[in-house]
Amino acid sequence: SPESLRRARELVDSADRVVALTGAGISTESGIPDFRGPNGLWSTDPGTQRLSNLRAYVDSAEVRERSWRARLHHPAWDARPNAAHRAIVDLERAGTLAAVLTQNVDGLHQEAGSAAELVVELHGTMFVTVCLSCSDRRDMRAVLDRVVAGEADPGCEECGGILKSATISFGQSLDPGVLHRARVEARSCDVMLAVGSSLTVQPAAGLVSTAAHAGAAVLVCNAAETPYDGLADVVLRGALSEVVPAVVGSRR
Ligand code: NAD
Repeated sequence: SPESLRRARELVDSADRVVALTGAGISTESGIPDFRGPNGLWSTDPGTQRLSNLRAYVDSAEVRERSWRARLHHPAWDARPNAAHRAIVDLERAGTLAAVLTQNVDGLHQEAGSAAELVVELHGTMFVTVCLSCSDRRDMRAVLDRVVAGEADPGCEECGGILKSATISFGQSLDPGVLHRARVEARSCDVMLAVGSSLTVQPAAGLVSTAAHAGAAVLVCNAAETPYDGLADVVLRGALSEVVPAVVGSRR
């Protein structure tokens, strides 16, 4: 409603430190499907849920082969940031954005122009691979070139171990340093702006209550309900490419 939008703008305008917590929903309008939205991968292709599980990945060469093929054809390779990503860059230029805590692995915040130092990739990045045995990290493109060349399940060139994208799967813990930094940001912001997340994946979603308990105002922008709506000062539905620019619009 216009009244909610007005309150949201007021909150953002008067804030000194805004922290954005983003999820897959901010990238759907860039052509990258989310998991739980109406066209989410979990409704359209139930098999992808298994691909996101660490145990299944380690146990099954077939799951790994499917994963590499999915990475190869991932929409993120051609995706461009949308107006919602750009609006978060506008907040940074206005001087009030403390951090972008993102659950996304698609790099679109950085591509839109968000400073890399401000982007905390809670669930890692799909543009790097990591060896599950020796932790050797490589460029994803280089590993996918091996897939294209015929290696269906490329192994670690250092130790022969299992390679995986440097993203957090279900059953895998977040990097403790990354999570710590996110919690510090959540505790020290005055507005927590949750954008495009179903807020159902922990510990990421819990950053909203971390911020609220530390006294921040909470603003939720998401088409569907979230478990944190009750905690929010303002909830805005609607397409994020319109909602997020409208919320930060007064800064332009
Ligand atoms: P999610 O799929 O659980 O929720 C996305 C939410 O965004 C949904 O509630 C949906 O209603 C809403 N939404 C989608 N498009 C929207 C739009 N245009 N306007 C308004 N609302 C919109 O996503 P999540 O909470 O981020 O959790 C999914 C997990 O999967 C994350 O942990 C993430 O790491 C991973 N993932 C990442 C990507 C990516 O990097 N782009 C894509 C899919 C999944």
